[in-house]
Amino acid sequence: MFDQHLLETLQGIGIPEQFRLLADRFPGQVAFSTSFGQEDQVIMEIIAREDLPVRIFTLDTGRLFNETYELIDLTRLRYRREIEVFFPDTKRVEALVNEKGFTSFYESVENRKECCHIRKVEPLNRALKGVTVWVTGLRAGQSDNRKDLPLLEWDASRGIYKYNPLISWTHEQVLQHLSAKNVPYNPLHDKGFVSIGCAPCTRAIEPGEDPRAGRWWWEQSQKECGLHFSQQSAVSGQQEQP
Ligand code: SF4
Repeated sequence: MFDQHLLETLQGIGIPEQFRLLADRFPGQVAFSTSFGQEDQVIMEIIAREDLPVRIFTLDTGRLFNETYELIDLTRLRYRREIEVFFPDTKRVEALVNEKGFTSFYESVENRKECCHIRKVEPLNRALKGVTVWVTGLRAGQSDNRKDLPLLEWDASRGIYKYNPLISWTHEQVLQHLSAKNVPYNPLHDKGFVSIGCAPCTRAIEPGEDPRAGRWWWEQSQKECGLHFSQQSAVSGQQEQP
């Protein structure tokens, strides 16, 4: 059940205090999912520097860029925080690849969603078991789908809060934080990759293109993989677009 007073309290304090308040109220139930994008690395730095009591996990789809794997190891070394890795169910990946091959996601939206579900959504659901507050690196400026997201929302489909500490940050603020704190980031960002996911489904973008244009670029409308899709936002009462 969404707590409007909690949202209002969070809006009046800084990010470390927001984390502490949530961790106090939901001990052991606050978890940060990172895909090691620039926003995620900002949050990682804050969690590590402030020694915040937050679980950290990531999803390895099996199709990530090598640069991302190297960044995961570098981040572990730098911040000395445990990062749990969740993999897709082996049997389901085997069945998918044996039936449809390694690149079925290029053939149809349905196939792409099937692959995202097996490699991302199902492992995410497992990772979120027992979690009450799911911390994300979402920013309003990342896409039209995200522009109305609040600092704290209710993921009705999962029955948990989503806490988006950087929701009002600009991309410039993110870059400034990474630079000021000497935070490691994915070198692909310097080659035109803005939003980085699986290697076969991510390309660099041109200046001025939508930040999410490099994801599933062969599709016209879909720029979300299902991780951040919820049936209803209890804050806005709007249907979040997939
Ligand atoms: Fe599969 Fe591409 Fe989705 Fe990764 S982004 S899970 S490779 S469809």
